[in-house]
Amino acid sequence: MNAVGTGAPLAERARAAIPGGVNSGQRSVPGITDLVVARAEGARFFDTEGRAYTDYHAAFGPQLLGHNDPDVSAAVAAVIREVDLCGVGVTPGEIELAERLIELVPSFEQVLLTSTGSEATFHALRLSRAVTGRRLVVKFQGCYHGWHDAVSLNVISAEDALNRPDPISAGILPEVLESTVVLPFNDAEAVRRLFADHGDQIAGVIVEPVPHNIGCVLPTDEFLITLREQTTQHGAILIFDEVITGFRHALGGWQEISGITPDLTTLGKAFANGFPLGAIGGRADLMQQFSSRPGGSAFFAGTYNGAPVVVAAALATLTKLTEQPVHEHTFRLGELARAGLREVFAELDLPAVVTGYGSIFVSYFMPGPAPRTYSDLLANRADLFVGYRRKLIERGIFELPLNLKRSHISYAHTESDIEQLIDGTRDAVRAALSE
Ligand code: PMP
Repeated sequence: MNAVGTGAPLAERARAAIPGGVNSGQRSVPGITDLVVARAEGARFFDTEGRAYTDYHAAFGPQLLGHNDPDVSAAVAAVIREVDLCGVGVTPGEIELAERLIELVPSFEQVLLTSTGSEATFHALRLSRAVTGRRLVVKFQGCYHGWHDAVSLNVISAEDALNRPDPISAGILPEVLESTVVLPFNDAEAVRRLFADHGDQIAGVIVEPVPHNIGCVLPTDEFLITLREQTTQHGAILIFDEVITGFRHALGGWQEISGITPDLTTLGKAFANGFPLGAIGGRADLMQQFSSRPGGSAFFAGTYNGAPVVVAAALATLTKLTEQPVHEHTFRLGELARAGLREVFAELDLPAVVTGYGSIFVSYFMPGPAPRTYSDLLANRADLFVGYRRKLIERGIFELPLNLKRSHISYAHTESDIEQLIDGTRDAVRAALSE
């Protein structure tokens, strides 16, 4: 029995009942451990003390339409009255969603739904091993693909990540880690060398086409082209992890923007606007190897896969993304934010790189040029990156105070929110610098 009772402050009760008081290691953020969220709507969330925060965290990215979007919520409420979860057969919504995804995402010939992005990347890697009969998978420094063992190397996401030993978790078998090769992002030559030496052992290559888990590092054309060429030449599977870039940057993801089509693609976050949904899709000859087809050799299951409530949220989200100027609006505000932030740092005479893409922005405190690989980001002043964001939170503006984390603009944000962001950043950075 724990001594903390139901009369104690909520955060204290949380820490007594839940390890660390939060339900994800990624939410264990120093400086905001007492935050208890009560409500969220549009561009804002509210804590139990009644404080409002203009939200640029967006739960690590899902709410592209903003919190509690009325059309998404209405679709969810309507389906709840019809059907919950049966776990047999398929529902009309699942069929419609699969067909719409196949229309939108260039690499999709067939698609399967999961509940999370981690499950999607897990299955993509397992499938790449199943169809090639090979052992090695390749990932890139700074890319995050979820919490499972094969990808738990060189994930840079926490304040202390620079000093954190690899792998990111205890309890992973060394032979699993030894089967994952980690290369620097944007290093086409390293990719060519690896394939020249070990091409016949590589099952798959997984990449965030834009590594947003370290803010925003844009890929060179040469890098993505080399990944496509080398995997094709050596019979390995190319996997684009578009859990962040999918729908947020374009309806067809980064593959639509870059014109490079992977064999498999994983999706999550923005396509159900906050409801738990992931997907894996790609070449039909590969997807047919999943055990959802009788005889498929790669086991695939999940009690909640394709749950009607989540599918309804995704259909409503996709409808809004296709019918309303969501990208136009969020991209325009993204440009405004980046331009305004650049001016602020110039005014303060502070070396900074303000970068991003579309609705994503991030300010690194280091001299330019824009980073090309994770190691470029070692120059970022982590203390200031985290410090000014803590000051921003005190001013009712929420950017996650973790080193290298990106920020997100939603369809619910307005120009005046962006003005508040720019002015708030000026004050917050000044306050952080004077400490
Ligand atoms: N891939 C990428 C690129 C991600 O950013 C994330 C989550 N941050 C994941 C996979 C894992 O998704 P989930 O947290 O839904 O398991």
